[in-house]
Amino acid sequence: MPGQARRGIHFVEPLIFERGAAGRHGSSVPALDVPAADPAALFGAQFRADAPNLPEVSEPEAFRHYVRLSQANFSIDSNMYPLGSCTMKYNPKVDEHVARFGGFANLHPYAPERMLQGALELMYRLERGLAEVCGLDRVTLQPAAGAQGELTGLMMIRAWHAAQGRNPRKVLVPETAHGTNPASCALNGLKAVPFPAGADGVVSAEKLAPHVDDDVAAIMLTNPNTVGLFERELPRIAQLLHDKGALVYGDGANLNALMGRTRPGDLGIDVMQFNLHKTFTTPHGGGGPGCGPVGYKKTLAPFAPTPTVEKREDGVYYLDHDRPQSVGRLRSFYGNFGMMVRAYTYLREMGAEGLRGATELAVLNANYLRACLGDTWHVAFDQVCMHEVIISDRHLKDTGVTTMDVAKRLLDYGFHAPTVYFPLVVRGAMLIEPTETETKESLDEFVGALEAISREAHEDADMVKHAPHLTRLRRLDETRAARNPVLRWRPPTGGEAIG
Ligand SMILES: *Cc1c(COP(=O)(O)O)cnc(C)c1O
Repeated sequence: MPGQARRGIHFVEPLIFERGAAGRHGSSVPALDVPAADPAALFGAQFRADAPNLPEVSEPEAFRHYVRLSQANFSIDSNMYPLGSCTMKYNPKVDEHVARFGGFANLHPYAPERMLQGALELMYRLERGLAEVCGLDRVTLQPAAGAQGELTGLMMIRAWHAAQGRNPRKVLVPETAHGTNPASCALNGLKAVPFPAGADGVVSAEKLAPHVDDDVAAIMLTNPNTVGLFERELPRIAQLLHDKGALVYGDGANLNALMGRTRPGDLGIDVMQFNLHKTFTTPHGGGGPGCGPVGYKKTLAPFAPTPTVEKREDGVYYLDHDRPQSVGRLRSFYGNFGMMVRAYTYLREMGAEGLRGATELAVLNANYLRACLGDTWHVAFDQVCMHEVIISDRHLKDTGVTTMDVAKRLLDYGFHAPTVYFPLVVRGAMLIEPTETETKESLDEFVGALEAISREAHEDADMVKHAPHLTRLRRLDETRAARNPVLRWRPPTGGEAIG
């Protein structure tokens, strides 16, 4: 095996679904001691005539099957996952524990309000906590993802303009923005107008000014931005927009670099989304549940999604549906409630000091990586960064090794790749976000792996270009996997599997 990696992922044997033998099973049920009922009489046409063709396996076989499946995927619970912009931090297990409390997990969504008081109180308190963190007046917990939060925020902005008899069509979006920003504009029938950041990577109020005209509804800014830099002109930019009757939308996905230190609302942001699955922990990725609450200033309150969670003077919590100017309901029932439980647990567990500490450590870790990697790799904006740092494949140009090859080779070393080829403004970008939950040792190992890969690229480029070598599968056709996913197991010899 070329280039012996230090922490490869090993598989004991290939994953196969076709295990077991007829008559093998994993349970022992006592013999029937009552007269057998006729299932066809009980279930009528719903009762199938033939048993499904399923594998018959022992308990250890079933167990090993699922554990192996879990090992075939890369996970934050086994290794470092520095996927920039995604804040793949360790999720404290106490959050999982609390989310599984029967009183939360088994709540029926149609239960009457008087039986939901605990859940409503948790939502009410979480809203207050998040409002404090972002420095805005209220927060809706409904949206089920950051992207849906953006959609919600822009809907509220549109409704706010409409209530004043205005209908501005443009939203200013910097070129570095996440793809969901222009998509949210499009879904709102608004036109995303891209504009470049300055050469130093941040938006300049002076350069922005000519773009702000009467047809601008809002600006969407990510702070820190997607190149990992603090938007230090934000208060001036907000002033510029407010003077023209426009609003400032904050993409809050990078709150992990601000929480406890500064508040978006204090910097001039009117409305923003949280990504609870990023900043406030919850396992994410792989299409798992998200939660993208939206914080907003009082002036936008009439337009917030319905219902809101309110508290009566006698201490009873209720859902307020009587909101005539609301943009409506964005999500069925109450949103992804389990994530709210995790986020609330995390907030209480961390406290103000803890949130601030996490922010400081996340920023320190990213700057440590920037300093260490700068010896070998090209750092795109070599200045003090926030919680993430961008390197590129520029110094590997002569070797033919690209960012994609480096990403794949990192898997052999036991690291998930950083975010690659994003943001678009840096050629061959690798956006690295270590988060506060990595130790100095794992950061050093990550630096060691990238230094080794740089050496390998110069000495044995072909080997890097064919990486990964140690994973169960090699390079996948990612487009086909996304467009034509095979999500259902089918038995090998005809028969019908249950979906
Ligand atoms: C993750 C992210 C989003 C979108 O959030 P989702 O929860 O994935 O929908 C938007 N903007 C930025 C900067 C992000 O990193």
